[in-house]
Amino acid sequence: MKTPARNLRKPAKKVVSTSRTKVTKKPPRRATKQREDWVTTMYDFGAPGVADYSHRHNVVVAPSPDTVSGGKLKYLPREFDVHGYDHPRKDIRAYKTKVGDHVRVGGESQEKIRFFGGYGVPIINRSFDEGEIDRLNVYYEYPSSRVRGGTMGTTDNWISDTGIKHSIIDINPRYIKDEPTILHETIHAMRFRDGIEGKDVDEDEALTELETVARVSRKGLFQMRHALGYYSWMTNGFEKMKEDRILLTGSLDRSLTGETARRRVLEVFPRTHLARLKIGQISDRKKKKRMVESRIDEVAPEWLDRYFKIVLKTGSVVNRHMRFKKPVPLASIVGKMKARYGSDLYQVFEYDDGVKKLVYRASGRPRKLATPTTKTTAKKRVATSRPKK
Ligand SMILES: [Zn+2]
Repeated sequence: MKTPARNLRKPAKKVVSTSRTKVTKKPPRRATKQREDWVTTMYDFGAPGVADYSHRHNVVVAPSPDTVSGGKLKYLPREFDVHGYDHPRKDIRAYKTKVGDHVRVGGESQEKIRFFGGYGVPIINRSFDEGEIDRLNVYYEYPSSRVRGGTMGTTDNWISDTGIKHSIIDINPRYIKDEPTILHETIHAMRFRDGIEGKDVDEDEALTELETVARVSRKGLFQMRHALGYYSWMTNGFEKMKEDRILLTGSLDRSLTGETARRRVLEVFPRTHLARLKIGQISDRKKKKRMVESRIDEVAPEWLDRYFKIVLKTGSVVNRHMRFKKPVPLASIVGKMKARYGSDLYQVFEYDDGVKKLVYRASGRPRKLATPTTKTTAKKRVATSRPKK
């Protein structure tokens, strides 16, 4: 089967480097982790956290065992800021949308963060209505040093200690000017926020894809020609995508937003090309592996949209959706998770046609489980609900 994926722009050549050169080339990883901790801890403290983290106190004290434990702020001091923790960071900016500042953006480059203000924020403003944006709690790592190669973007969904659903979205440096990528990942975050993700991750992905086609601007729709997602398994995928767009909105020029977008997606779904695509035709893992190795385009959609459950030794659980432009071997995905979480990484599961499979397990035991004396008063962060199983 000829698939349009073959015609896609080839990604920039990857420089093969030893791990040593990789380390020297990527110093920002620690800052990336700090930003992630900053965001998740802020939501752990709930609304007071959101207010305090955006407010700079006059008194700043150094972190001490009284205020910080395990790299996280233990409690929220109202009188002062703890250096490196509950004060505004230069490398994270809260953006005003048409409703409020629910959108945060961080990264190494002030210029890129500002670029998001002019490029990404308008995408969010026009693709979601006020109620939706008001509910959204989202942080973009932009561009993200954590996503490289074929990964276009990832969305990690979290529930804070105080029950706030929030999402951390990583955008590949090559896709920072790609409306569909920003939109697609934000739709995942929105669906998570509203708890409307389906039980079936494949169908959920198809609906997210279709919602992207419904909400995207005309210009963005034509950007999708180069990264067709599920449509890349169809002959003339881009033509079929355009037909689905017309079915959804009535015209290539017209985009939908809010409840209208969601309702319309569900209404027309059975009649779309997307619904007719058979998901997961290839169940033979060995065959899949051969195909990935030989870079054959005819692979199952699971190779482009993958779902992982990451268990950290700290007790945290992250459910991660990763979207790829081309198939990436599992070993390389797990390698990146190891680089991101270091010795904290304990287990990685992958959802394959709805079945959860252990794909990696570190030696050693998680700290939480190692000390069964329940110290759950500390941070028990459960990032969950995507995918549900
Ligand atoms: Zn997706």
